[in-house]
Amino acid sequence: MTKKSGYIFVLLILASCSSSGQEQKIKTGNTEHMYYIQKSDEEWKSELTDDEYRVLIQCGTELPGTGKYNNFYKKGKYYCAACGQLLFDSGTKYSSGSGWPSFFDVISDSSVVLIEDRSHGMVRTEVRCSDCGGHLGHVFNDGPEPTGLRYCINSVSMKFVEEEEANNKDK
Ligand code: FE
Repeated sequence: MTKKSGYIFVLLILASCSSSGQEQKIKTGNTEHMYYIQKSDEEWKSELTDDEYRVLIQCGTELPGTGKYNNFYKKGKYYCAACGQLLFDSGTKYSSGSGWPSFFDVISDSSVVLIEDRSHGMVRTEVRCSDCGGHLGHVFNDGPEPTGLRYCINSVSMKFVEEEEANNKDK
């Protein structure tokens, strides 16, 4: 039994962040992704702050330069603010000058789901938490070595835990 085996496996087909309202199947490669965590809109609303709900569930974006982790370089780990999944390590965080927290890598490719996002007249790749489907931000191909990637993530979508506490938490 895995730690997640207690969850009901539900295939969620969510609309992308596009304002078109059309539903889009979420895929990782050629495999339809199943989120472990499924909650109703009302449950998310009651558990999250207004800002967290707007960004994580309604695919909002915090204003550039305003997020609490934008200019923030303590050693530790970043977890999904909706479900607590480990997402990023401070060792991969860098200053991109974009106004949003930026990472050149995720903890694991399986921590996130990447979705083509054609909203706002652009083609971008949306990044979601793979456990709960919470909207984190977008990933671009203009990051530094060794990956060349820039995960551009909303501060409000994450919760930071300092190194020592994070190491105990992950034991
Ligand atoms: Fe999550």
